[in-house]
Amino acid sequence: MLEAQAFPSATQQFVSREAICAVFGETYDPVSWQDWRWQMRHRLHRLDQFEKLLSLTPAERVGLTMASQRFAVAVTPHFAALMDSEDPNCPIRKQVIPREEELVAAPGDLVDPCGEDQHMVVEGLVHRYPDRVLLLAQDACAAYCRYCTRSRLVAQGDLNALPKRLEAILDYLRAHPEVRDVLISGGDPLLFSDDRLDALLSAVRSVPSVEFVRLGSRVPGFLPQRITPELAAVLRKHRVWLSLHFSHPRELTPEVAAACDTLADAGIPLGSQTVLLASVNDDANTLRELFTGLLKLRVRPYYLYQCDPVLGTSHLRTSIAKGLEIMGQLRGFTTGYAVPTYVVDAPGGGGKIPLQPPSVVAHEGETWILRNWAGKLYTYQDPPQA
Ligand SMILES: *Cc1c(COP(=O)(O)O)cnc(C)c1O
Repeated sequence: MLEAQAFPSATQQFVSREAICAVFGETYDPVSWQDWRWQMRHRLHRLDQFEKLLSLTPAERVGLTMASQRFAVAVTPHFAALMDSEDPNCPIRKQVIPREEELVAAPGDLVDPCGEDQHMVVEGLVHRYPDRVLLLAQDACAAYCRYCTRSRLVAQGDLNALPKRLEAILDYLRAHPEVRDVLISGGDPLLFSDDRLDALLSAVRSVPSVEFVRLGSRVPGFLPQRITPELAAVLRKHRVWLSLHFSHPRELTPEVAAACDTLADAGIPLGSQTVLLASVNDDANTLRELFTGLLKLRVRPYYLYQCDPVLGTSHLRTSIAKGLEIMGQLRGFTTGYAVPTYVVDAPGGGGKIPLQPPSVVAHEGETWILRNWAGKLYTYQDPPQA
């Protein structure tokens, strides 16, 4: 059996399920709580709702009134129940409750930090790399990450619904047989009904040159109730891979563990992506706990992202030096499978650039001086050149 996470600790005061239901004038019912459509209908959006659950700071109050006009706020009851009601530095709260700092434009902040719009070949299809594309499924997510790299599009109501766009996307794929990999990502594809998802995946799979299909989703973390055996069967039918998104070990709840089990038992290969966030997960112990916790759920940490310079997110970002220092405390110190690739998605549209602490100390002719994980130096001799 999977172990439940050891929380709450004595000092933490988590928002109770009863209190969340009371916001809607309802009493807690465990059966409704496990229903993903109930969860979606009971998402928290407004200041007056959060006020009943959290001791809000002045900055959070301004965020909930002002910043929420720029980028939508929504939190599922499942995720809200992981928030500490008293601690404004709660790593769960920081991810989904807007703050006044979102109104700050720092030097280098960009509306489209990864330059996706310039590589948008048809509406909702980004073609940057030689053999693969990013397909934006829709404009809604289960909850909204305050550091969303796509906040210019997500929940803004400008992206046409997929049925309107799909023919043009399929025409593009058919005209570009070099595209063998389709990544379907946020707005979140796992919010589609099973039938709509099945239809989308069938359409993408109908293009003969498409070999590899993967979905990016934060639904397993925000809304684990959505991961039903029926959904897993649709994913299995189309032989997709799934990239999940987690920021903090507290997110690995028993419900999330059950969702990952359902997916892994259906044979869906599971990866995970994490964004490095200031005072949420920017220390080696927190990330080691997250990454080794994911391995226990059969999820392979894939990428650790340097936070994109999205307009209004400088308070959530940390330096590349800090990221490199953390990577140096992971590699070699724990299971290799638990160490993701640390990447910067280059501002301006250069794509993902991997970073790691320098391990080549010197190189002359056939001799390489290399630094190992513990900081010791070793020499490797290349074979003699012909
Ligand atoms: C991240 C990304 C991909 C996929 O990149 P991988 O390194 O293969 O995971 C494809 N297209 C775009 C635009 C991306 O941002």
